[in-house]
Amino acid sequence: MFAQFALHERLLKALETLSFTEPTAVQAAAIPKALEGRDLRVTAQTGSGKTAAFVLPLLHRLLSEDKPKSGARALIMLPTRELALQTLKEVERFAQFTFIKACLITGGEDFKVQGARLRKNPEIIIGTPGRLNEQFNAGNLPLGDVEVLVLDEADRMLDMGFSEDVLKLAAQCPAQRQTLLFSATAGSGLREMVEQVLREPETLMLNRVSELNEDIRQQVILADDNAHKEAILQWLLENETYEKAIVFTNTRIQADRLTGRLIAAGHKVFVLHGEKDQKDRKLAIERLKQGAVKILVATDVAARGLDVDGLDLVVNFDMPRKGDEYVHRIGRTGRAGASGLAVSLVGHGDWNLMSSIERYLKLRFETRTIKELKGSYKGPKKLKASGKAAGVKKKKADPKKAGAKPAAKRKPAAKPKTGPSQVVSQDGLAPLKRKKPAAE
Ligand code: AMP
Repeated sequence: MFAQFALHERLLKALETLSFTEPTAVQAAAIPKALEGRDLRVTAQTGSGKTAAFVLPLLHRLLSEDKPKSGARALIMLPTRELALQTLKEVERFAQFTFIKACLITGGEDFKVQGARLRKNPEIIIGTPGRLNEQFNAGNLPLGDVEVLVLDEADRMLDMGFSEDVLKLAAQCPAQRQTLLFSATAGSGLREMVEQVLREPETLMLNRVSELNEDIRQQVILADDNAHKEAILQWLLENETYEKAIVFTNTRIQADRLTGRLIAAGHKVFVLHGEKDQKDRKLAIERLKQGAVKILVATDVAARGLDVDGLDLVVNFDMPRKGDEYVHRIGRTGRAGASGLAVSLVGHGDWNLMSSIERYLKLRFETRTIKELKGSYKGPKKLKASGKAAGVKKKKADPKKAGAKPAAKRKPAAKPKTGPSQVVSQDGLAPLKRKKPAAE
């Protein structure tokens, strides 16, 4: 129960209004520590409820002491505009019974308008490091009164090359501030940031990146080439049962091309990538949220922070280049305990990526075949010739079952040593949870 946290009564009232009753694991672990005023370094997966885990203690702190004359009292830095917007909405929801104001400072928006927003002296500033830095350089960003600094998806900010901006802005905040750093991964890449920005932090490892939401079924379908992938994608979009779907590509060009193909085939589709201007991006996300459009084609820029109810199918048209990216992509589905299906289309060029992601996540993807779209690609020759796969004992796969029985819950396979298995491993599979059996 949230009442156990001794949060300010106006926050408890908002939680009640929002029907937030039980805290999620990351909230239960982080909120009491943050309320003590400690610096935290939290590893929590996307969709775990981490936003409330930092927003609630932050608001509590601002409410506990009235400081009408101070400048911004909290700064939240995060990697993308979408995540910034969603975080702002979450802040506004929790602060609905207070006078606390927050503002957004991200790229792609009018610089002067943002300057005017900052002059209104909001208590909370939420933004992406590049634009925040530009506003700081223009003398528009007052950081001298910051009491709480949040770095959300810090690993992603690092990957996107924001490290220098983050460190510079953090150094402008008072040394006695509280800092809360959240990341999806627990790798050592963040060491410099952690050392420079946090003071004697408590480390909370809630979800290692490899502990993916168990309710997301993860499948792989082998494909001969892009044309074959397109046919499989069309089949999935027409035959799977889903409310909303997101299709990921690795490049903007591929995203645009695929969108054209899907529209030509009669689907209602929006495309979201880094070259789209802010208006188009907002429109695409809004339409998807409202359900006016069921399918979104996106590059990884869109993967972060996108929180759309009912997003229950993720298709990786291209295999992501990194394990973390995979996690972030499929984290778009199965939010807050809902179930979802993630299907990766794997051709020649994707096989090694798939193997390394399996090794990284210590799991086996379920191999699925669509009967009427069976291709000739069966994985690398060496693998087929040796008859052995990935140090995993080969089980006789029932071709009728392959793909027809998706796994609702999978236990991670025993630590794989080499490449993946093509065997449909039924080990540890929980009863099926599918809404409708696939018609393949
Ligand atoms: P996040 O990981 O912060 O992006 O949260 C994922 C989704 O779960 C968001 O839509 C939140 O509003 C929702 N959520 C977070 N915590 C709770 C909770 N304790 N009860 C119900 N929904 C929650």
